[in-house]
Amino acid sequence: MEKQKYYITTAIAYTSGKPHIGNTYEVVLADAIARYKRQQGYDVFFQTGTDEHGQKIELKAEEAGITPKEFVDNVSGEIKRIWDLMNTSYDKFIRTTDEDHEKQVKKIFKKMYAKGDIYKGHYEGMYCTPCESFFTESQLVDGKCLIAAAHVYLQKKKHTSSK
Ligand SMILES: [Zn+2]
Repeated sequence: MEKQKYYITTAIAYTSGKPHIGNTYEVVLADAIARYKRQQGYDVFFQTGTDEHGQKIELKAEEAGITPKEFVDNVSGEIKRIWDLMNTSYDKFIRTTDEDHEKQVKKIFKKMYAKGDIYKGHYEGMYCTPCESFFTESQLVDGKCLIAAAHVYLQKKKHTSSK
């Protein structure tokens, strides 16, 4: 009889800096589930990896005097080193800068674009760079980011999506 498939993934860690204990806790929990399912006879595919995009990374790389790609190579390498140190049994460590990943994203994007699901639009709000998110003024807490009061660099920004 063919083994039943079981897929599990963590969120992919953001590469703006070293991973924190929460990222490590998450991968260890997922690893425990993956091991348990393998023991139960499932054909397990366990995935984890790193999310490597955004203005925050661009700024951090500039501060460090290196290219964004060099910056994410360092951080992603450090994250993978820690996951290996924790002896996590992942089957794939995916990076959003991986060639095969980029190829798939382009394929999906083109398909969605062709169907009219992606179109030009615009919106305005208060932008928080650490959160990489827009908030309305009524969502702010004392004029500061609602996620973390330390995020004081909110800027009024207009976003127009580009083709
Ligand atoms: Zn924020």
